[in-house]
Amino acid sequence: AEGQSHTYLQVLQSALDISSELKTILSRHQPANISAVSNGPSRSTLGAHVEAPPRVGIIAKPSAEFVAGLWATWLCRGIAVPLALSYPEAELLHVLTDADISVVLGTSDYESQLKQASHKASSTFFLLPQVKAIDNLKLANMDELSSLHVLDQARSLAITEGTTPGLIVYTSGTTGKPKGVVHTHSGMNAQVKMLSKAWEYTSDDRFLHCLPLHHVHGLFNGLLAPLCAGAMVEFLPKFSVKGVWKRWMESYPSEGVKGSNATTVFTGVPTMYAYLLQGYKNMDTADQKVAASAAQRLRLMMCGSSALPQPVMTEWEALTSHRLLERYGMTEFVMALSNPYHGQRKAGTVGKPLPGVEVKIVDDDPAVPGTGELCVKSPSLFQEYWRQPEVTKESFLEDGYFKTGDSATADCNGYYTILGRSSVDIMKVGGFKLSALEIEAVLLEHPLIAECAVLGLPDVYYGEVICVVAVLTDEAKVGGNVDPPLTLSQLQSWAKERMAPYKAPSRLVIWDEMPRNALGKVNKKELKKLLTD
Ligand code: ATP
Ligand code: MG
Repeated sequence: AEGQSHTYLQVLQSALDISSELKTILSRHQPANISAVSNGPSRSTLGAHVEAPPRVGIIAKPSAEFVAGLWATWLCRGIAVPLALSYPEAELLHVLTDADISVVLGTSDYESQLKQASHKASSTFFLLPQVKAIDNLKLANMDELSSLHVLDQARSLAITEGTTPGLIVYTSGTTGKPKGVVHTHSGMNAQVKMLSKAWEYTSDDRFLHCLPLHHVHGLFNGLLAPLCAGAMVEFLPKFSVKGVWKRWMESYPSEGVKGSNATTVFTGVPTMYAYLLQGYKNMDTADQKVAASAAQRLRLMMCGSSALPQPVMTEWEALTSHRLLERYGMTEFVMALSNPYHGQRKAGTVGKPLPGVEVKIVDDDPAVPGTGELCVKSPSLFQEYWRQPEVTKESFLEDGYFKTGDSATADCNGYYTILGRSSVDIMKVGGFKLSALEIEAVLLEHPLIAECAVLGLPDVYYGEVICVVAVLTDEAKVGGNVDPPLTLSQLQSWAKERMAPYKAPSRLVIWDEMPRNALGKVNKKELKKLLTD
């Protein structure tokens, strides 16, 4: 990270140093602060009278220090809670108090911000030391490490302790207030192994990582699974179009030449690929040639967290020869469905269940057979929503399947398509149930539309009407003396040539920018409220 590199053992050494101090601090914390985990339904192994392990917040830019903090927490048998770097104080306080965090491990960049918030939330701030380069692990620590299976599992990072909780990740809050999702060590272990196997991560891989670490995409797909495979992870502190292209071009500067630290794998969210395409278009011709041939030489490029627009997929493939591997995941089970590493990657689908994962569609509308709520059973399923036993209970079917809240359908070859969240993406328009994602995919083909979000707005006659919030392409923004460059009736006639007339939008809102969160997601619940108001 930022010009420094560390070996696994150096990070482990730092984790051990931190953990010895952390243990002392945690032992000083009042038991009241380490209160009982809610007594979830039968899933929870922690009863009402069993104390949950202490929660340890971690706030650091993606770095070796972050990993050391995570391992130190696990060495102390605590529950790690990765915190967003961009939380405004109110949200930070919400997480600190909701998770009842005893200690926050943080780097100096966050010291003043966190000290204030920690004080209000009665948690202790602990400054994460810089991970030093150390040649040899101190032998004295070997016993401790092996008793914790850390050495055996230095690569898997999760200490196998069955159903002991080790991590709370907060959901993105797309459909409501973010929920704390409790993961166990065995679930995490199962997940990292599943991913490295499916996508053939090896110790020859080098990941270019530019995702936040407080969501599962960046944490598991981009960090824990690669480390489990013994791969190298290189952090770009923040996603930047120039930064990513630069690293790829350095990796493969010319035909037949491979840089010493060449990126082999990249995983991102759809907007990143859209921006990278834009960045490519802005390069001069000589750079474009190097950039395109460099990108072609990576081993694997993956995409997820929200639906991959087909125009982005097609353009990316034309440029780099990479058919992006789209997969489907959720904070509650990390990843469950994926297009194959070998074999056909089907556009518009998220592939098939990963090995060990079972899924089923619970038909909720006899009018549309084969379409309904996607339910998932997996060894990586979360244990419970933190301190929300009722919500946990409602989220599971009797037979142990987790109800994702996403509507889906499968084709005859077993490839699944996500139609969207039942609560915000499935619209009920005059008796028809429509998928916002399906309509977005068509509208994105419009030459003047760069980004769009489709949602249902309340309507007295139809129940809901289709509204599209669109961001126009740069050409449309600057090129036209026509104002506005796109009207609703133009869009409607264009749309009606491509889909059933009742799927054409009845409202069009043009904005300069699409409001997105750290993972590039649009919060439709907020958008809906804003537009309805
Ligand atoms: P909250 O649960 O707080 O409302 P959230 O569901 O957005 O927020 P996450 O767990 O980060 O929080 O996101 C999981 C959701 O992201 C899935 O339920 C699904 O709706 C969406 N998603 C993930 N991958 C894809 C994909 N490839 N295509 C379509 N949707 C996807
Ligand atoms: Mg969710």
